[in-house]
Parts: sequence; C-alpha cells; structure tokens
Amino acid sequence: MSRVDVLVVGAGFAGATLARVAAEAGLRVHVVERRTHIGGNAWDTVDAHGVRVHPYGPHAFHTNSDRIVAFLSRFTGWRPYEHRVLADVGGVLVPVPVNRTTINRLYGLDLDEAGVAAHLERVREPRDQERTSEDVVLGRVGRDLCERLFRGYTRKQWGLDLAELAPQVARRIPVRTGDDDRYFTDRHQAQPAGGYAQLFERMLDHRRVSVELGRDWAQIRGAIECRHLVWTGPIDEFYGRRHGPLPYRSLEFVVEHLPDTGRLQPVGTVNYPDDRPWTRVSEFKHFTGQVHPGTTILREFPCAAGEPYYPIPTPANDALYRRYAELADAETDVTFVGRLAQYRYYNMDQAVGAALTAAARVIAKLGARPPEGLSAEPE
Ligand code: FAD
Ligand code: UDP
Repeated sequence: MSRVDVLVVGAGFAGATLARVAAEAGLRVHVVERRTHIGGNAWDTVDAHGVRVHPYGPHAFHTNSDRIVAFLSRFTGWRPYEHRVLADVGGVLVPVPVNRTTINRLYGLDLDEAGVAAHLERVREPRDQERTSEDVVLGRVGRDLCERLFRGYTRKQWGLDLAELAPQVARRIPVRTGDDDRYFTDRHQAQPAGGYAQLFERMLDHRRVSVELGRDWAQIRGAIECRHLVWTGPIDEFYGRRHGPLPYRSLEFVVEHLPDTGRLQPVGTVNYPDDRPWTRVSEFKHFTGQVHPGTTILREFPCAAGEPYYPIPTPANDALYRRYAELADAETDVTFVGRLAQYRYYNMDQAVGAALTAAARVIAKLGARPPEGLSAEPE
C-alpha cells in the first residue's frame, strides 16, 4: 500500500489549488481524477478542426480578488477578455444584463440614463423581502422584462420556476441604467493566455504531487493510505447518498463546427429566453481570441439526469445539503471543498478562494509550515 500525506479527489480548480499549496508546504500529495484529464469543468482542448474549445461549457474568468489573481498568475499569463452576452428576444438581440440599450431596443424608446431609471422605477414590483429569484427579478425590472428575459430561460435552465429558486440565482445578474454591456464588472477579467488546460498542467507540476487520471476514488480507496482526504466531488456521493440524493442540474452540450464562418455571433454568448430547447449558444473564438478561418459553437441543453454541473439552490435542497454538511463537520480527517462538495454555486475564482482557505487548515492540521501569505480565514 502506498502512503501520502494528502489524497485529493478531483483535479478541478478546488483540487488542483489545494494540491499545489499543500505540496509547497512540504506535504506529499496524490490526486485522483475519474475523468481522463485534469481541470474539471474548466478544462479546454483543441477540437478536430484546430479550434480551442471548452467542452464543459464556456468559461470566462473574472474576480475582484487580488490574492486569487496573484496565485493563478504564477501558472499562467493572461489575455484580457470582457465577456458580453446578448439575448434573442423574438429575433431582436438585446444586452444582458439589462441596460439602457436593452430597454430602448425592446420598447422602441430613446431614454437617457435618468429616463431608464425612471422607467424601471415605474415598472418594478418591489417586495418587502426577497425570498425567491422571482422576487428579485420583479423587484428590479418588473413583470414584462421578467417574462421576456428571465422566466423562460430559468425554467429551461433549472426545470423550475423563478419562484422556486433561492434569490441568489437571480442576484447573479445585475440591472444597469447606463450603457455598460459587459456581463461582469469585476476588476480582473481575463483568460489564461495558454488556455485553462495549460494552467492546470503547471499548477499540478510539482515534485511532491502525483496525478492519477481515469480512476474513481472508489477504485483506489483501499490502495492508498493518507493522513488527510480532500473531497471535491459531490458530497452526497461521499456518504453513499444516505440522506437521499442531492439534486444537481446537468447539461447536454452540442458542438458544431462551421468551416467557412469567421465569426457567427457578435458576442461570446447569445441567450435564448424563448421556448427553444437550448438556453444559450457560445462561440469559442470570442473567449480565446483565436484566429481561424472557421468557428466552433456550443449549444447548452439543460437536463435533470447526467453529470452534475450545478447545485440547485432551493430551500429544500439547502436543507438536505445541511444534513450532509453536519456529517462533514464531524470529520477530522476529511475536508470538503469545491462547487459539488460544498453544494455552492461557485464561480472559478470562488472555488480557488475556498481551496486556498481549506489548504491553510489542512496544512496546519498536519503540522506543516504554510507557504507565505496563506491564511485559513476566508477573504
Ligand atoms: P469541478 O470542476 O467539477 O471538479 C471536480 C472534479 O472532481 C471533476 O473533474 C470530477 O470528475 C472529479 N471527481 C468527482 N468525483 C470523483 C471521484 N469519486 N473520483 C475521482 N474524481 C472525482 N465559472 C466562472 O468563473 N466563469 C464562467 O464563465 C463559468 N462558466 C461555467 C459554465 C458551465 C456550463 C459550468 C458547468 C460551470 C461554469 N463555471 C464558470 C463554474 C466553474 O466551472 C466552477 O466554479 C469550477 O470548475 C469548480 O471547480 P471544482 O474543482 O469545485 O469542481
Ligand atoms: N438568467 C435568465 N436570463 C438570462 C440570463 C440569466 O433568466 O438571459 C437567470 C437564470 O436563472 C440563470 C441565472 O440568471 O440560471 C444565472 O445566470 P448566469 O449567466 O450567471 O448562469 P451560469 O453562467 O452560471 O449558467
């Protein structure tokens, strides 16, 4: 039986970050990943036509955390990229998040910023308390925009009505009265210059880190002894779903290559809030800046069964997660970190941030010396 200090299950952002930091603290780390590649859902690759693609959905990095940028910048250079999204509303393309152009284009108006603010003030239906995503949307943009931009998209994406989802889902999308049409306003917005896969290769390239691909933890658990286990997979899976399965939302990805199309869309992603079965179409060349005579696009078809991609934020699911979290809290030799292990709707930077914090705790517990500047407190 081989022996390591830390066994990490999953080689996505959470697992790779934790593995790297623990190794730099002098610990011997083994990473086991059931897919045949590292990088988790952020992995990218080059398709048969030579176009760089994100097979698990388009990824745009954004954060306000200098600490997370500093950490990742040790493994990659950056190419500036500000993500933009348009929604196809009955054939008219309008910016998402809602901004001045969205309102003027949808209603045939020519309002200035103050006019848009006054318009929204007139149509919004504020609630005393925001209990659901519907409360959030109605309170910000009113019923008509809610129906045209949010309800249908949400129903497809989650298989649930806006009124069934926790408020934080809709709070991801701001509302603007001005002309800013960027999807995110974070201080740092960029893509890894050599792609996400290269970033992960460099992160995991350390003499005290070994990586085993194409293997499920269940297959090797008896064969490797460890002082501490780090679990980045679904938390209910770790506990054999003893309290019942935690719901996750899945996606089917349909990729299409268009050989003689320089660019298909004016922006990286076009959303479809109507009753077409897909939610959005993304064109990778926007995300990567690649120059290529053809283009590759990806359509997302949400579904219930399949690979778990999204925790589903509802009160009932949060309550079920709490029951698993109670089991997790009682563990002394296992740490749960990441989007599936913490059942949180993390973006990439948040998965890295959570792993940096978790790494500090694991390192302290195993009596190793933390790398400089690492804190066990979340930012
Ligand atoms: P994951 O990336 O899911 O990694 C977990 C890994 O563990 C997986 O590789 C899995 O195979 C492995 N694993 C699980 N169980 C086992 C087991 N039993 N044995 C072995 N291995 C196991 N974030 C952004 O910031 N910007 C975006 O634009 C963005 N777009 C997204 C688009 C889509 C469609 C999706 C689904 C997510 C997007 N995200 C985006 C979120 C981002 O993907 C996550 O925040 C991030 O990948 C989470 O990293 P993680 O390590 O927690 O999980
Ligand atoms: N949303 C919507 N219409 C849109 C964009 C987003 O209704 O055009 C809602 C929908 O519920 C979605 C949520 O806002 O799931 C969060 O959107 P985001 O783009 O952050 O989702 P992700 O990129 O994580 O899939």
